[in-house]
Amino acid sequence: MSRFLTRFAPSPTGRLHLGHAFSALTAFDAARDAGGTCLLRIEDIDTTRCRPEFEEAIFEDLAWLGCDWPKPVRRQSAHFPEYARVLDRLADKGLVYRCFKTRKEIAEEIARAPHQVGEGPDGAIYPGPAEPLSAGEEAARMEAGEAFSWRLSVKACRDHLGEGFDGLNFVEEGSGPDGETGLVKARPETLGDVILGRKDVGTSYHLACVHDDGLQGVTHVIRGQDLFFATHLHVLLQALLGLPRPVYRHHRLLVGEDGKRFAKRDKSLTLQALREAGRTAAEVRAMAGL
Ligand code: GLU
Repeated sequence: MSRFLTRFAPSPTGRLHLGHAFSALTAFDAARDAGGTCLLRIEDIDTTRCRPEFEEAIFEDLAWLGCDWPKPVRRQSAHFPEYARVLDRLADKGLVYRCFKTRKEIAEEIARAPHQVGEGPDGAIYPGPAEPLSAGEEAARMEAGEAFSWRLSVKACRDHLGEGFDGLNFVEEGSGPDGETGLVKARPETLGDVILGRKDVGTSYHLACVHDDGLQGVTHVIRGQDLFFATHLHVLLQALLGLPRPVYRHHRLLVGEDGKRFAKRDKSLTLQALREAGRTAAEVRAMAGL
């Protein structure tokens, strides 16, 4: 059996707060208990929101919490060409298509749809265009330099995998938001045709994350329940890309006294603020309920 390898994969868009500490410690503790390793991966593809000083702060805060990770860390922004090649592989198989629509057009299209497709975990889901773009129009729009994103076609994936599509599943050792645990059937179709290549950076969280987990040999994905639905898609991507499937452990989300999740705006609960207020790492661990 391969060695236990998990990861903590924050995005440097702000200071880490108590909720992040809970997530990080859950992953680092699990690795320690299993005699394995927890990697730190910097998920900074969003080049407008991520900042180097927040990355530095992540290193500082995690070290203060007592976490230790192999260096150098993988920083996703250094690998855009690699993600482009992964996307090319999907494009070669006809599994993704160019989408020139704006956010507003997509929202209008969803609202006009004869059958309401319903809400996915990320809001209204986009079931794909009624008619695919003709080759002529696609060429013309590219010629005109119009921006486009790449979307995964659920229909093409279904055709490509055949019965394998309905047989997709994953092992959940934690639990989903509705208590899903054990062998869970993956239902990637509930997310619709998601964007795998963003207009601005050419990749997406889903693509970069799945590729990196495979590349880095992650055996256990430990993360918050907010990403449980993303897992349904990640399992599909693993099947399409021939990547091994890790075991998943989604953990509960830490909430404040008001029952709401900690957010970046809760400045008093950043690890920096807690540290400056004289809290010790052990106290923060206790505050996180660990
Ligand atoms: N980068 C993601 C986040 O900030 C986490 C990705 C993951 O654990 O799969 O929430």
